[in-house]
Amino acid sequence: MPELPELEVVRDVLQRRVVGKTITRIELFQPMAALVVRDLTGRGFAETLTGATFDNVTRRGKFLLFAFTRPVSAWLVLNPKLTGRLQLATAQTKRFKKTAVAFTLSDQTELRYYDDKTMGQLYLTDAVERVPDFAGMGPEPFDITREEFRERLKLYRGEIKGVLTRGEFLAGIGNAYADEILWHAQLHPYRKRTQLTADEIDRLYDAIQTTLRESIAQVRAAMGENIHLEPRDFLNVHLRTGEACPRCGTTISEISANQRITNFCRTCQPGGLIRGM
Ligand SMILES: [Zn+2]
Repeated sequence: MPELPELEVVRDVLQRRVVGKTITRIELFQPMAALVVRDLTGRGFAETLTGATFDNVTRRGKFLLFAFTRPVSAWLVLNPKLTGRLQLATAQTKRFKKTAVAFTLSDQTELRYYDDKTMGQLYLTDAVERVPDFAGMGPEPFDITREEFRERLKLYRGEIKGVLTRGEFLAGIGNAYADEILWHAQLHPYRKRTQLTADEIDRLYDAIQTTLRESIAQVRAAMGENIHLEPRDFLNVHLRTGEACPRCGTTISEISANQRITNFCRTCQPGGLIRGM
């Protein structure tokens, strides 16, 4: 699932590749498009965006936002959820089977959205606050100070991995990078927030900053312009069940709960509940 590091790199690429370009044609592929596209303006998705020029691309949490001001002011807001991907292509590039929307741009580039499980959403809106799950998001991880982080963490009491992946606590961290952050911080994912010492909370804050920044650099190197890829070869524990921990050599543990996999090293990340180990 795309999280902050992937979306940050995708944003950079799109800022360079689509800003200043005009949408000359929009194709909606059914039945996927009906599940993905949401027109919150009532003015029509293709009708509004055909002829519009990309002004800016930004990221907020796990959302990508495309701003248009010419000839009309509007936002295109993508929430890719688990399986949504953007792709830069040309007309000759074979379409992925689950392509829902293709935007042809004035330089003949095609910006496509495909989604193997059609879980993501592409909103057209006049106000980003109207997009579901957008307004309640917590601060960006790079914008929060250590002191603010300590204070904010006090509002939550559950298992630390569950806290980290809650968008209203911090925006942009999902299952994969929560595992990586906790491995860097050497904290067991099922430790309760209330059990963490001040030193451990400091370690967690530092691990969030360094893990996300280093991951952006790794994703950028591996992705290039292929924004539909999700490079994860560089991860240390996530999806590495049964492999050796890069720090200590212990076999990496896996716990599956609530349809998501948690990976960690039981030597480097001691404590927590003894389950599934
Ligand atoms: Zn280890």
